Amino acid sequence: MSTKQKRYFLTEDEIPRQWYNIQADMPNKPLPPIHPATKQPLKAEDLYPIFAKELCHQELNQTDSWIDIPEEVLEMYKYYRSTPLVRAYGLEKELGTPAHIYFKNESVSPVGSHKLNSALPQAYYCKKEGVTNVTTETGAGQWGAALSYAAKVFGLEAAVYQVKISYEQKPYRRSIMQTYGAQVTASPSMSTRAGKDVLTKDPTNQGSLGTAISEAVELAMTTPNCKYVLGSVLNHVALHQTIIGLEAEKQMEKAGEYPDIVIGCFGGGSNFGGVSFPFMRHNFFDGKKTRFIAAEPASCPKLTRGVFQYDFGDLSGLTPLLPMYTLGHNFMPANIHAGGLRYHGAGVIVSQLLKDKFMEAVDIKQSETFQSGLLFAKCEGIIPAPESCHAIAAAIREAKECIKTGEEKVILFNLSGHGLIDMTAYDQYLAGSLFDYEVTDEEVAKNVSELEKII
Ligand SMILES: *Cc1c(COP(=O)(O)O)cnc(C)c1O
Repeated sequence: MSTKQKRYFLTEDEIPRQWYNIQADMPNKPLPPIHPATKQPLKAEDLYPIFAKELCHQELNQTDSWIDIPEEVLEMYKYYRSTPLVRAYGLEKELGTPAHIYFKNESVSPVGSHKLNSALPQAYYCKKEGVTNVTTETGAGQWGAALSYAAKVFGLEAAVYQVKISYEQKPYRRSIMQTYGAQVTASPSMSTRAGKDVLTKDPTNQGSLGTAISEAVELAMTTPNCKYVLGSVLNHVALHQTIIGLEAEKQMEKAGEYPDIVIGCFGGGSNFGGVSFPFMRHNFFDGKKTRFIAAEPASCPKLTRGVFQYDFGDLSGLTPLLPMYTLGHNFMPANIHAGGLRYHGAGVIVSQLLKDKFMEAVDIKQSETFQSGLLFAKCEGIIPAPESCHAIAAAIREAKECIKTGEEKVILFNLSGHGLIDMTAYDQYLAGSLFDYEVTDEEVAKNVSELEKII
């Protein structure tokens, strides 16, 4: 096998035809979501009013390890998959590390991030079940862009509530959503009761993900043939993202290597789970000892400093209670540029895996992430999304460890997206006006103490 090969692809026939459902194989299954009013475990039927039925079943499926990818979704995956697995020779050389660094480049998707891997199946299942409209919220706009395109592909109308401050500060993501034909509304808006309530109390409110979720869920519950869709956190989203790790597994085989360390940045857990879960099954069953590292921002450290507790997914407490590592649903993360990582909780599967020590987490300050992102851009040519910079920073830390120990470890990280629409963030870093935010222990303790104690 040539050691000079830079990129590894799969032929169309080699692209995986099933997703991997890690829930079925976990030694300790995740605890069930709980109905906020009755405090009883939720059944798939309880979720039907909000999500497409097939997605409700995927969400709670703890029996089938493999789930077929529908033909129609596979056809759309072929527009941009397989994504390249790349050996980062440039970065290795610059660092002077004996480590072999690989990255899976999800930034080549038409919308520039991994989010399309789940937007496509979610839109497909909605269409198949007779749904005509989908609605969601978006912060920085990555998920909104992916959903807008997927809705167009499958002939659905999309209504996206974008957090008002992002709507105003990130006009290009809004333009992208509108280019695909979505209706984009700044949240809070006067079009829903939830939005009106906020605006009546505070007419200048700049919005939050929590409020935007409330608006989108309300629209879905009050509009016929309209479903709500979510781009992270939930089990079915991580399931769809396993296409990343399943492809990477075959590509690493072509490279004649197997990862010692797998790294992903962490917002709600979908791209981390997507790259990790397929490899983790070999730790469960085949005696592999791969380490899995989730890289989260120091300003929103739910995995490293949160508590394992039942908590709401949104600010206003409309969603089911989920057993997760959380900073408390009232937690207000600082306004860092990695908007996709500003979420108070972690997905249920990942939370259980962390509790059971099948994975690790690190928190990284904003300045280190951009420093790492710039180094990566100079060595590999790709400007990474601020979110992805967290994974790069963690990979660089591990590669530097290998310099000390002399070990030739194989490191694989997921490049979740490119940063070409986030250049304002790079401008601020280059101008030296980017700040680090850290959360105090008191802040975490106070938020967490307000949670209802259910386990
Ligand atoms: C949304 C987003 C993330 C964070 O979401 P996860 O569900 O944790 O993967 C990371 N990177 C990019 C580029 C994103 O758009």
